[in-house]
Amino acid sequence: MEESLVSADLLDKLRCHLCNLYLSVFPIYINDKGNEFICGRCNVQHEDKYIRDGSYEDIAQYIIFPCAHSVNGCKQQMCPQKLALHELCCAFRKLDCPNRSYSDCVWKGSINKLRDHFENSHRALFINDGKFEINFNNSLREYLLFFTENELFLVKKEIDSINGIFSCSVKHVIQIEDSKKYNYSLRIETANQFFNFHECSKRTVSIANEEKISFSNEFINEQLSYPETIIINVIIDEMEIQKSQIANIPKIEDSNTNLAIFNELECPICYEYMLPPIFQCLSGHSICNICKPKIVFCSICKGNIKYTRNFTLENLVTQLSYPCKYSKVGCPIALKAGSIEQHQDLCEFGSYECPLAKMENCIKKLNKNEINRHIETEHESYLLKFNKVNVTLNMLNDGRYREYYIIKFDKKLFKLCFAYFDFTFFWAIQLIYPSEDYIKYQLEIDIIDNSGNNLRAYARRPCMPYTKTENFFEVKGTYIMFLYEQINDFLTDKTLSYQARVVNGTMM
Ligand SMILES: [Zn+2]
Ligand SMILES: [Zn+2]
Ligand SMILES: [Zn+2]
Ligand SMILES: [Zn+2]
Ligand SMILES: [Zn+2]
Ligand SMILES: [Zn+2]
Ligand SMILES: [Zn+2]
Repeated sequence: MEESLVSADLLDKLRCHLCNLYLSVFPIYINDKGNEFICGRCNVQHEDKYIRDGSYEDIAQYIIFPCAHSVNGCKQQMCPQKLALHELCCAFRKLDCPNRSYSDCVWKGSINKLRDHFENSHRALFINDGKFEINFNNSLREYLLFFTENELFLVKKEIDSINGIFSCSVKHVIQIEDSKKYNYSLRIETANQFFNFHECSKRTVSIANEEKISFSNEFINEQLSYPETIIINVIIDEMEIQKSQIANIPKIEDSNTNLAIFNELECPICYEYMLPPIFQCLSGHSICNICKPKIVFCSICKGNIKYTRNFTLENLVTQLSYPCKYSKVGCPIALKAGSIEQHQDLCEFGSYECPLAKMENCIKKLNKNEINRHIETEHESYLLKFNKVNVTLNMLNDGRYREYYIIKFDKKLFKLCFAYFDFTFFWAIQLIYPSEDYIKYQLEIDIIDNSGNNLRAYARRPCMPYTKTENFFEVKGTYIMFLYEQINDFLTDKTLSYQARVVNGTMM
């Protein structure tokens, strides 16, 4: 056991004014009188009365605190940096009986007592072998408890007898910080040993989340020719992808890429890892800032989501390296919050709208490897074969005009936008598909003199990164422009001719 910096007496005084737990979870706030400390587990209510106590945190980071669940029997002690994560995963943390909303059970106890509770009070909901029977006679919802050697799983069983639907989801109840990630599948069996195997590879997540697998009564009848009894077998497997992911992620510090943390950091709505700012409901269930505007009530407890920031979690996550959200499809990048967002916007493993989606009503989602082929086969007419373009000025009649071309250069594709408005001609290019490579290229526009007077108008601008919007001409210096009157003398036969080229080079 680690030695603490401070005596037991002093430690006992380092308690939160609101929850009475140790001041071991940051940020720590102190009131204007200096006599009330609030810990990071609690919400500071009147923000004007409190300031963050950075100097306390500076010292307290070296103090070894007991786990907040020590009252329930946890013997762990550690410094605040590790403790915040431990308390999230601690096997001594309390929860309500999962069947509370489906029965009159009011049990509340620690995670490691859950198994005993099911054995004593919900014997019928305790499944040893992962198997349970279903029928479609009555609607019902209940949680079954299932455990493997080291792990606990809650199986949510739902029968909708009116529509003949069976749904099931499996929740992995984390008990240690570095617990593994699991897949589950369902096998539907009949009593007389004929069975079909229906595997759905779905991840299980911490208690908050669920990913349902549903079957209709009809489907089961078709697959198993009207069985008398239907047995569902839940099969849990360790998630293989996750292992290789760990190997790929550059290790900054072992605990930083810990998957159990990221299990806890999955937003219950979108399943993406939550990045700051992180919000929470009045009961403390967290939600990411992208989902927050979309919902009014917490998806877990149906409580109100106010603009409450979860500073404890935000503080904790600044220490983490997030795997890119495309890590499941092969991206090896892991970066701190604040940097990973930009990477994800440009990640080569992401899939993106077709660059001609709006013009062509194309609904294809494409990744980097598919995008060039898609354009060359599906939107071939946009490819600029000879780099000279003629624009008949009649087309500009109503004062606004815009068109797109695709330019191929250096085995890459570029989207050229040409527009006319406010008596001005505009050009800009973007490298198609997100990549940092855009800085290597520039656009050159040569206005061709159709008057025979050997005039020359020429401009060069850097290539822009790929954007989802069509706003090519909003930031000065990112596009080429010529006023109509500047190149009026070039125009004969009511035609503007220009050459568009992509060239190598960065502009400093
Ligand atoms: Zn507190
Ligand atoms: Zn603990
Ligand atoms: Zn119960
Ligand atoms: Zn979300
Ligand atoms: Zn909630
Ligand atoms: Zn990535
Ligand atoms: Zn397309």
